[in-house]
Amino acid sequence: MKKEKIYDEIGLDAELIKISNEVFEELKEIFNEVDEIASFNQIKVLKAMQKAKLSDIHFAATTGYGYNDLGRDKIEEIYKTVFKAEDALVRPQIVSGTHALNLALSGNLRPNDELLSVVGLPYDTLLPVIGIKETRGSLIEYGVKYKQVDLKEDGSFDFIGIKNAINENTKMVLIQRSKGYSTRVSLSIEKIEKVISYIREIKKDIIILVDNCYGEFVEEREPIEVGADLIVGSLIKNPGGGLAPIGGYIVGKKEFVENAAYRLTAPGLGKELGATLGINQSILQGLFLAPSVVASALKGAILAANLFEKFGFTCVPSGKEKRADIVQAIILNKKEAVISFCEAIQEVAPVDSFISPIPSYMPGYDCDVIMAAGAFVSGSSIELSADAPMREPYVVFFQGGLTFYHAKYAILFTLKRMREKGII
Ligand SMILES: *Cc1c(COP(=O)(O)O)cnc(C)c1O
Repeated sequence: MKKEKIYDEIGLDAELIKISNEVFEELKEIFNEVDEIASFNQIKVLKAMQKAKLSDIHFAATTGYGYNDLGRDKIEEIYKTVFKAEDALVRPQIVSGTHALNLALSGNLRPNDELLSVVGLPYDTLLPVIGIKETRGSLIEYGVKYKQVDLKEDGSFDFIGIKNAINENTKMVLIQRSKGYSTRVSLSIEKIEKVISYIREIKKDIIILVDNCYGEFVEEREPIEVGADLIVGSLIKNPGGGLAPIGGYIVGKKEFVENAAYRLTAPGLGKELGATLGINQSILQGLFLAPSVVASALKGAILAANLFEKFGFTCVPSGKEKRADIVQAIILNKKEAVISFCEAIQEVAPVDSFISPIPSYMPGYDCDVIMAAGAFVSGSSIELSADAPMREPYVVFFQGGLTFYHAKYAILFTLKRMREKGII
Protein backbone atom coordinates (compact mmCIF):
# COMPACT_ATOMS: atom_id res chain seq x y z
CA MET A 1 0.00 0.00 0.00
CA LYS A 2 1.15 3.52 -0.81
CA LYS A 3 2.41 5.35 2.25
CA GLU A 4 0.61 8.64 2.76
CA LYS A 5 2.68 11.83 2.93
CA ILE A 6 0.88 12.76 6.13
CA TYR A 7 2.66 9.90 7.94
CA ASP A 8 6.08 11.34 7.12
CA GLU A 9 4.91 14.80 8.06
CA ILE A 10 3.86 13.63 11.52
CA GLY A 11 6.69 11.13 11.88
CA LEU A 12 4.58 8.12 12.81
CA ASP A 13 6.43 4.89 13.59
CA ALA A 14 5.87 1.77 11.48
CA GLU A 15 3.40 0.20 13.88
CA LEU A 16 1.22 3.30 14.05
CA ILE A 17 1.22 3.50 10.26
CA LYS A 18 0.15 -0.12 10.02
CA ILE A 19 -2.69 0.35 12.50
CA SER A 20 -3.86 3.57 10.81
CA ASN A 21 -3.94 1.90 7.41
CA GLU A 22 -5.96 -1.00 8.76
CA VAL A 23 -8.43 1.36 10.37
CA PHE A 24 -8.86 3.43 7.18
CA GLU A 25 -9.63 0.23 5.26
CA GLU A 26 -12.27 -0.75 7.81
CA LEU A 27 -13.97 2.65 7.66
CA LYS A 28 -14.70 2.93 3.95
CA GLU A 29 -18.26 1.72 4.23
CA ILE A 30 -19.10 3.82 7.29
CA PHE A 31 -17.65 6.91 5.61
CA ASN A 32 -19.82 6.21 2.56
CA GLU A 33 -22.90 6.24 4.76
CA VAL A 34 -21.83 9.59 6.24
CA ASP A 35 -21.39 10.96 2.71
CA GLU A 36 -24.83 9.77 1.67
CA ILE A 37 -26.48 11.58 4.57
CA ALA A 38 -24.47 14.71 3.78
CA SER A 39 -25.57 14.57 0.11
CA PHE A 40 -29.19 14.34 1.19
CA ASN A 41 -28.88 17.23 3.64
CA GLN A 42 -26.91 19.36 1.16
CA ILE A 43 -29.81 19.15 -1.29
CA LYS A 44 -32.31 19.84 1.49
CA VAL A 45 -30.49 23.08 2.39
CA LEU A 46 -29.95 24.09 -1.24
CA LYS A 47 -33.64 23.59 -2.13
CA ALA A 48 -34.72 25.65 0.87
CA MET A 49 -32.52 28.53 -0.34
CA GLN A 50 -33.86 28.29 -3.88
CA LYS A 51 -37.46 28.07 -2.70
CA ALA A 52 -36.95 31.23 -0.63
CA LYS A 53 -35.49 32.98 -3.70
CA LEU A 54 -32.36 33.91 -1.79
CA SER A 55 -30.56 36.79 -3.48
CA ASP A 56 -27.57 39.02 -2.75
CA ILE A 57 -29.86 41.80 -1.55
CA HIS A 58 -30.37 39.63 1.55
CA PHE A 59 -26.71 40.02 2.51
CA ALA A 60 -27.10 43.75 3.17
CA ALA A 61 -26.51 45.02 6.70
CA THR A 62 -29.16 46.67 8.87
CA THR A 63 -28.61 48.75 11.99
CA GLY A 64 -30.67 50.29 14.78
CA TYR A 65 -34.05 48.64 15.38
CA GLY A 66 -33.62 46.43 12.35
CA TYR A 67 -37.19 46.80 11.09
CA ASN A 68 -37.69 45.14 7.70
CA ASP A 69 -34.40 43.28 7.73
CA LEU A 70 -35.01 41.29 4.54
CA GLY A 71 -32.01 39.03 5.02
CA ARG A 72 -32.95 38.16 8.59
CA ASP A 73 -36.47 37.24 7.50
CA LYS A 74 -35.02 35.15 4.66
CA ILE A 75 -32.73 33.26 7.06
CA GLU A 76 -35.74 32.43 9.22
CA GLU A 77 -37.78 31.34 6.21
CA ILE A 78 -34.94 29.03 5.13
CA TYR A 79 -34.46 27.55 8.61
CA LYS A 80 -38.21 26.95 8.77
CA THR A 81 -38.10 25.01 5.49
CA VAL A 82 -34.95 23.03 6.33
CA PHE A 83 -36.33 21.89 9.67
CA LYS A 84 -39.91 21.42 8.36
CA ALA A 85 -41.44 23.83 10.86
CA GLU A 86 -44.08 26.57 10.99
CA ASP A 87 -41.77 29.32 12.15
CA ALA A 88 -38.20 30.15 13.11
CA LEU A 89 -36.25 32.62 15.21
CA VAL A 90 -32.59 32.75 14.14
CA ARG A 91 -30.71 35.70 15.61
CA PRO A 92 -27.26 37.06 16.38
CA GLN A 93 -28.84 38.55 19.52
CA ILE A 94 -29.14 35.00 20.84
CA VAL A 95 -25.66 34.72 22.34
CA SER A 96 -25.42 30.95 22.80
CA GLY A 97 -27.26 27.65 22.86
CA THR A 98 -28.04 28.11 26.54
CA HIS A 99 -29.55 31.52 25.83
CA ALA A 100 -31.73 30.02 23.09
CA LEU A 101 -32.89 27.26 25.45
CA ASN A 102 -33.61 29.83 28.16
CA LEU A 103 -35.79 31.80 25.73
CA ALA A 104 -37.71 28.72 24.60
CA LEU A 105 -38.27 27.59 28.19
CA SER A 106 -39.02 30.90 29.89
CA GLY A 107 -41.11 32.15 26.95
CA ASN A 108 -43.42 29.16 27.11
CA LEU A 109 -43.65 28.25 30.78
CA ARG A 110 -45.84 30.10 33.30
CA PRO A 111 -45.99 29.89 37.12
CA ASN A 112 -47.15 26.45 38.30
CA ASP A 113 -46.52 24.85 34.90
CA GLU A 114 -44.42 21.74 35.17
CA LEU A 115 -41.35 21.05 33.05
CA LEU A 116 -40.43 17.39 32.71
CA SER A 117 -37.01 16.22 31.56
CA VAL A 118 -37.23 12.65 30.27
CA VAL A 119 -33.46 12.34 29.75
CA GLY A 120 -32.36 12.75 33.36
CA LEU A 121 -30.24 15.72 34.32
CA PRO A 122 -30.00 18.17 31.41
CA TYR A 123 -26.83 19.82 30.07
CA ASP A 124 -24.70 21.57 32.75
CA THR A 125 -25.56 25.14 31.78
CA LEU A 126 -29.31 24.42 32.08
CA LEU A 127 -29.08 23.62 35.77
CA PRO A 128 -29.06 27.31 36.80
CA VAL A 129 -31.56 28.21 34.03
CA ILE A 130 -34.12 25.79 35.41
CA GLY A 131 -33.04 26.27 39.02
CA ILE A 132 -31.99 22.66 39.65
CA LYS A 133 -28.93 24.49 40.87
CA GLU A 134 -30.37 27.33 42.95
CA THR A 135 -29.78 30.58 41.05
CA ARG A 136 -31.41 34.02 41.04
CA GLY A 137 -33.85 34.45 38.16
CA SER A 138 -34.25 30.72 37.49
CA LEU A 139 -37.51 29.22 36.23
CA ILE A 140 -38.10 27.63 39.63
CA GLU A 141 -37.77 31.05 41.29
CA TYR A 142 -40.57 32.25 39.01
CA GLY A 143 -42.80 29.40 40.17
CA VAL A 144 -42.22 26.83 37.45
CA LYS A 145 -42.08 23.26 38.72
CA TYR A 146 -39.45 20.80 37.56
CA LYS A 147 -39.51 17.03 37.41
CA GLN A 148 -37.09 14.56 35.94
CA VAL A 149 -37.17 10.95 34.82
CA ASP A 150 -33.74 9.40 34.44
CA LEU A 151 -32.74 7.28 31.49
CA LYS A 152 -32.38 3.60 32.35
CA GLU A 153 -29.01 2.00 32.98
CA ASP A 154 -28.71 0.97 29.31
CA GLY A 155 -29.52 4.51 28.10
CA SER A 156 -33.11 3.72 27.06
CA PHE A 157 -36.17 5.74 28.10
CA ASP A 158 -37.98 4.80 31.30
CA PHE A 159 -41.42 4.67 29.67
CA ILE A 160 -43.26 3.64 32.85
CA GLY A 161 -41.50 6.39 34.79
CA ILE A 162 -42.52 8.93 32.16
CA LYS A 163 -46.15 7.83 32.30
CA ASN A 164 -46.17 8.16 36.09
CA ALA A 165 -44.56 11.59 36.01
CA ILE A 166 -46.98 13.23 33.56
CA ASN A 167 -49.91 15.00 35.23
CA GLU A 168 -52.38 17.80 34.47
CA ASN A 169 -49.72 20.47 35.17
CA THR A 170 -47.11 19.01 32.83
CA LYS A 171 -46.77 21.75 30.25
CA MET A 172 -43.49 20.91 28.58
CA VAL A 173 -41.21 17.93 28.06
CA LEU A 174 -37.47 18.41 27.51
CA ILE A 175 -35.55 15.92 25.38
CA GLN A 176 -31.81 16.41 24.90
CA ARG A 177 -30.63 14.77 21.68
CA SER A 178 -26.90 14.83 22.37
CA LYS A 179 -25.23 13.31 25.38
CA GLY A 180 -23.40 16.63 25.74
CA TYR A 181 -20.55 16.10 28.16
CA SER A 182 -21.79 12.92 29.79
CA THR A 183 -21.15 9.33 28.81
CA ARG A 184 -24.74 8.29 28.22
CA VAL A 185 -25.73 7.38 24.67
CA SER A 186 -27.00 10.14 22.39
CA LEU A 187 -30.53 9.79 21.09
CA SER A 188 -31.23 8.79 17.51
CA ILE A 189 -34.18 10.37 15.72
CA GLU A 190 -35.85 6.96 15.78
CA LYS A 191 -35.67 6.83 19.58
CA ILE A 192 -36.91 10.42 19.82
CA GLU A 193 -39.83 9.51 17.54
CA LYS A 194 -40.82 6.60 19.80
CA VAL A 195 -40.79 8.61 23.01
CA ILE A 196 -42.67 11.54 21.44
CA SER A 197 -45.52 9.35 20.19
CA TYR A 198 -45.66 7.64 23.59
CA ILE A 199 -45.90 11.00 25.38
CA ARG A 200 -48.55 12.28 22.94
CA GLU A 201 -50.71 9.26 23.72
CA ILE A 202 -50.65 10.11 27.41
CA LYS A 203 -51.18 13.85 26.97
CA LYS A 204 -51.71 15.37 23.55
CA ASP A 205 -51.06 19.06 24.22
CA ILE A 206 -47.69 18.86 25.96
CA ILE A 207 -45.08 21.11 24.35
CA ILE A 208 -42.18 18.89 23.33
CA LEU A 209 -38.88 20.74 23.24
CA VAL A 210 -35.77 19.07 21.83
CA ASP A 211 -32.34 20.45 22.69
CA ASN A 212 -30.90 19.84 19.21
CA CYS A 213 -27.31 20.97 19.97
CA TYR A 214 -24.68 18.88 18.13
CA GLY A 215 -27.39 16.85 16.37
CA GLU A 216 -28.19 18.93 13.29
CA PHE A 217 -27.54 17.20 9.95
CA VAL A 218 -26.17 14.04 11.56
CA GLU A 219 -29.23 12.16 10.29
CA GLU A 220 -31.60 12.77 7.39
CA ARG A 221 -34.53 13.68 9.62
CA GLU A 222 -34.70 16.33 12.34
CA PRO A 223 -36.86 16.22 15.51
CA ILE A 224 -39.77 18.35 14.18
CA GLU A 225 -40.33 15.69 11.53
CA VAL A 226 -41.00 13.14 14.26
CA GLY A 227 -43.38 15.30 16.27
CA ALA A 228 -41.33 17.78 18.34
CA ASP A 229 -42.92 21.22 18.79
CA LEU A 230 -39.72 23.19 19.26
CA ILE A 231 -36.05 22.58 18.53
CA VAL A 232 -33.23 24.73 19.79
CA GLY A 233 -29.54 25.02 18.98
CA SER A 234 -26.42 27.14 18.64
CA LEU A 235 -25.03 28.65 15.44
CA ILE A 236 -21.45 28.13 16.59
CA LYS A 237 -22.10 24.42 16.49
CA ASN A 238 -23.42 22.34 13.54
CA PRO A 239 -25.86 24.63 11.65
CA GLY A 240 -23.47 27.61 11.49
CA GLY A 241 -21.09 25.51 9.41
CA GLY A 242 -18.10 27.21 11.06
CA LEU A 243 -18.88 30.55 9.41
CA ALA A 244 -21.63 31.98 11.62
CA PRO A 245 -19.76 34.21 14.09
CA ILE A 246 -22.54 34.17 16.74
CA GLY A 247 -26.17 33.17 17.18
CA GLY A 248 -28.79 30.67 18.17
CA TYR A 249 -32.03 29.34 16.74
CA ILE A 250 -35.49 28.34 17.95
CA VAL A 251 -37.62 26.59 15.34
CA GLY A 252 -41.08 25.06 15.61
CA LYS A 253 -44.77 25.85 16.11
CA LYS A 254 -45.60 29.48 15.39
CA GLU A 255 -47.11 30.30 18.78
CA PHE A 256 -44.20 28.82 20.72
CA VAL A 257 -41.56 30.51 18.57
CA GLU A 258 -43.40 33.81 19.00
CA ASN A 259 -43.47 33.33 22.78
CA ALA A 260 -39.70 32.87 22.72
CA ALA A 261 -39.33 35.99 20.53
CA TYR A 262 -41.34 37.97 23.11
CA ARG A 263 -38.69 36.99 25.66
CA LEU A 264 -35.80 37.86 23.37
CA THR A 265 -37.08 41.37 22.61
CA ALA A 266 -40.28 42.32 24.46
CA PRO A 267 -43.92 41.25 24.61
CA GLY A 268 -45.60 42.91 21.65
CA LEU A 269 -42.35 43.42 19.74
CA GLY A 270 -41.26 39.84 19.14
CA LYS A 271 -39.61 39.04 15.82
CA GLU A 272 -40.08 42.49 14.26
CA LEU A 273 -36.90 43.92 15.74
CA GLY A 274 -33.25 42.91 15.68
CA ALA A 275 -30.64 44.38 13.34
CA THR A 276 -28.15 41.93 11.87
CA LEU A 277 -25.19 44.30 11.37
CA GLY A 278 -23.96 42.56 8.23
CA ILE A 279 -23.64 38.93 9.33
CA ASN A 280 -26.52 37.48 7.30
CA GLN A 281 -24.22 36.23 4.59
CA SER A 282 -22.06 34.31 7.08
CA ILE A 283 -25.11 32.71 8.67
CA LEU A 284 -26.45 31.66 5.27
CA GLN A 285 -23.17 30.53 3.77
CA GLY A 286 -22.44 28.62 6.98
CA LEU A 287 -25.80 26.87 6.74
CA PHE A 288 -25.02 25.99 3.14
CA LEU A 289 -21.71 24.40 4.22
CA ALA A 290 -23.13 22.79 7.37
CA PRO A 291 -24.03 19.35 5.95
CA SER A 292 -20.51 18.93 4.61
CA VAL A 293 -18.82 20.33 7.72
CA VAL A 294 -20.91 18.02 9.92
CA ALA A 295 -19.84 15.08 7.73
CA SER A 296 -16.18 16.06 8.23
CA ALA A 297 -16.66 16.29 11.98
CA LEU A 298 -18.41 12.91 12.02
CA LYS A 299 -15.60 11.25 10.07
CA GLY A 300 -13.08 12.71 12.50
CA ALA A 301 -15.06 11.36 15.45
CA ILE A 302 -15.38 7.93 13.82
CA LEU A 303 -11.66 7.80 13.02
CA ALA A 304 -10.74 8.81 16.58
CA ALA A 305 -13.01 6.15 18.11
CA ASN A 306 -11.69 3.38 15.89
CA LEU A 307 -8.04 4.27 16.41
CA PHE A 308 -8.29 4.70 20.17
CA GLU A 309 -10.18 1.43 20.46
CA LYS A 310 -7.20 -0.30 18.83
CA PHE A 311 -5.18 0.85 21.81
CA GLY A 312 -7.69 -0.54 24.26
CA PHE A 313 -9.60 2.63 25.21
CA THR A 314 -13.37 2.58 25.61
CA CYS A 315 -15.11 5.05 23.31
CA VAL A 316 -18.67 6.40 23.47
CA PRO A 317 -20.06 5.92 20.91
CA SER A 318 -17.94 2.91 19.92
CA GLY A 319 -16.12 2.86 16.61
CA LYS A 320 -18.73 1.05 14.56
CA GLU A 321 -21.88 2.35 16.30
CA LYS A 322 -24.43 4.50 14.48
CA ARG A 323 -24.07 8.16 15.47
CA ALA A 324 -26.65 10.62 16.75
CA ASP A 325 -24.35 13.62 17.27
CA ILE A 326 -20.79 14.80 16.55
CA VAL A 327 -19.39 14.36 20.06
CA GLN A 328 -16.85 11.61 20.68
CA ALA A 329 -16.06 10.62 24.25
CA ILE A 330 -12.82 8.71 24.82
CA ILE A 331 -12.27 7.25 28.26
CA LEU A 332 -8.54 7.78 28.81
CA ASN A 333 -8.46 6.68 32.47
CA LYS A 334 -5.48 8.86 33.41
CA LYS A 335 -5.04 12.54 34.08
CA GLU A 336 -1.76 12.72 32.13
CA ALA A 337 -3.43 11.11 29.13
CA VAL A 338 -6.19 13.73 29.10
CA ILE A 339 -3.70 16.60 29.35
CA SER A 340 -1.50 15.10 26.68
CA PHE A 341 -4.49 14.63 24.34
CA CYS A 342 -5.67 18.23 24.74
CA GLU A 343 -2.15 19.64 24.35
CA ALA A 344 -1.77 17.80 21.05
CA ILE A 345 -5.14 19.01 19.73
CA GLN A 346 -4.19 22.59 20.59
CA GLU A 347 -0.80 22.23 18.96
CA VAL A 348 -2.31 21.39 15.57
CA ALA A 349 -4.92 24.17 15.63
CA PRO A 350 -4.87 26.90 12.96
CA VAL A 351 -5.26 29.59 15.64
CA ASP A 352 -3.37 29.75 18.97
CA SER A 353 -1.27 26.67 18.16
CA PHE A 354 1.53 28.10 20.31
CA ILE A 355 -0.57 28.09 23.47
CA SER A 356 -0.66 25.20 25.92
CA PRO A 357 -4.01 24.41 27.57
CA ILE A 358 -4.00 24.03 31.36
CA PRO A 359 -6.76 22.59 33.56
CA SER A 360 -8.49 25.35 35.47
CA TYR A 361 -11.69 26.52 37.15
CA MET A 362 -14.81 26.92 34.96
CA PRO A 363 -18.13 28.32 36.16
CA GLY A 364 -20.78 25.59 36.34
CA TYR A 365 -18.36 22.70 36.89
CA ASP A 366 -17.51 20.97 40.15
CA CYS A 367 -13.90 20.35 39.14
CA ASP A 368 -11.16 21.87 36.95
CA VAL A 369 -11.66 21.64 33.20
CA ILE A 370 -9.11 21.54 30.39
CA MET A 371 -10.09 22.89 26.98
CA ALA A 372 -8.23 22.75 23.69
CA ALA A 373 -9.64 25.04 21.03
CA GLY A 374 -7.76 26.95 18.42
CA ALA A 375 -10.78 28.28 16.62
CA PHE A 376 -11.51 31.09 14.17
CA VAL A 377 -14.76 31.73 16.01
CA SER A 378 -14.08 31.90 19.73
CA GLY A 379 -15.54 28.91 21.57
CA SER A 380 -16.86 27.32 18.40
CA SER A 381 -17.13 23.58 18.87
CA ILE A 382 -17.96 22.74 15.26
CA GLU A 383 -14.28 23.59 14.85
CA LEU A 384 -11.85 20.96 16.07
CA SER A 385 -11.84 21.01 19.86
CA ALA A 386 -11.40 18.83 22.92
CA ASP A 387 -12.54 19.34 26.50
CA ALA A 388 -12.28 17.30 29.66
CA PRO A 389 -13.42 17.73 33.24
CA MET A 390 -10.49 16.71 35.43
CA ARG A 391 -12.18 13.89 37.30
CA GLU A 392 -12.40 10.13 37.11
CA PRO A 393 -12.69 8.25 34.82
CA TYR A 394 -10.79 10.94 32.88
CA VAL A 395 -12.88 11.22 29.75
CA VAL A 396 -11.95 13.55 26.91
CA PHE A 397 -14.74 14.89 24.70
CA PHE A 398 -13.60 15.46 21.18
CA GLN A 399 -15.66 17.20 18.52
CA GLY A 400 -15.69 19.21 15.34
CA GLY A 401 -13.36 19.65 12.44
CA LEU A 402 -14.13 22.06 9.62
CA THR A 403 -12.31 19.68 7.31
CA PHE A 404 -11.79 15.95 7.71
CA TYR A 405 -8.15 16.37 6.68
CA HIS A 406 -7.49 18.59 9.65
CA ALA A 407 -9.27 16.21 12.01
CA LYS A 408 -7.31 13.27 10.61
CA TYR A 409 -4.00 15.08 11.01
CA ALA A 410 -4.92 16.04 14.57
CA ILE A 411 -5.86 12.50 15.56
CA LEU A 412 -2.70 10.94 14.13
CA PHE A 413 -0.60 13.67 15.76
CA THR A 414 -2.33 13.03 19.08
CA LEU A 415 -1.57 9.31 18.86
CA LYS A 416 2.06 10.04 18.15
CA ARG A 417 2.28 12.42 21.09
CA MET A 418 0.69 9.88 23.43
CA ARG A 419 3.10 7.27 22.16
CA GLU A 420 6.06 9.52 22.98
CA LYS A 421 4.69 10.02 26.49
CA GLY A 422 4.42 6.24 26.92
CA ILE A 423 0.62 6.36 27.26
CA ILE A 424 -0.08 4.04 24.36
C1 LIG B 1 -23.53 23.07 23.76
C2 LIG B 1 -24.79 22.57 24.33
C3 LIG B 1 -25.69 23.40 24.98
C4 LIG B 1 -25.42 24.84 25.31
O1 LIG B 1 -24.84 25.54 24.33
P1 LIG B 1 -23.88 26.82 24.61
O2 LIG B 1 -23.87 27.40 23.26
O3 LIG B 1 -22.57 26.29 25.05
O4 LIG B 1 -24.54 27.68 25.61
C5 LIG B 1 -26.86 22.85 25.43
N1 LIG B 1 -27.13 21.55 25.27
C6 LIG B 1 -26.28 20.72 24.66
C7 LIG B 1 -26.63 19.27 24.52
C8 LIG B 1 -25.08 21.19 24.17
O5 LIG B 1 -24.24 20.36 23.56
